[in-house]
Amino acid sequence: MTVSDCVFCKIISGQIPSLKLYEDQNVLVFLDIGPISDGHTLVVPKQHFTRLDECPAEMLGSIGACLGKISKAVAEAMNADGYNVLCNNGRAAGQLVEHLHFHIIPRKNGDGVFNRWPAYNYEKGKAEELAKKIKGKLSV
Ligand code: 5GP
Ligand code: ZN
Repeated sequence: MTVSDCVFCKIISGQIPSLKLYEDQNVLVFLDIGPISDGHTLVVPKQHFTRLDECPAEMLGSIGACLGKISKAVAEAMNADGYNVLCNNGRAAGQLVEHLHFHIIPRKNGDGVFNRWPAYNYEKGKAEELAKKIKGKLSV
């Protein structure tokens, strides 16, 4: 997929209409066209990155700087009891639009939008082994 095919780049450039909620130099915020709850909102960097790990720290800073404020406004406007902030990365994780984005999903008590994920326990020693493996990949 090229940037010119990207639906969110088209929204950012105004080629595709959207219900904009907030905009600054680096970030655009608009309503999701296929909500899973009323007020489901998308926060996207104006520059095209596919995944979170491709987005430079300064840009993530710009996103992070408005994410809390936008989430609060969305949740209050929807009279939500809570909200999820989700960022799907890769098809395996449910990412359909290959332009980095954060979902803000307002939630009500008992709404059943989605329930807890299927958590399990590690076998003995596995958590330590995995922690070591991950730390080995961290260069910071
Ligand atoms: P993903 O599964 O990639 O994390 O989520 C992509 C989201 O983008 C979906 O929730 C979908 O409804 C939303 N979306 C896809 N196309 C458009 C569009 O043209 N306009 C808006 N506002 N949202 C879109
Ligand atoms: Zn894009």
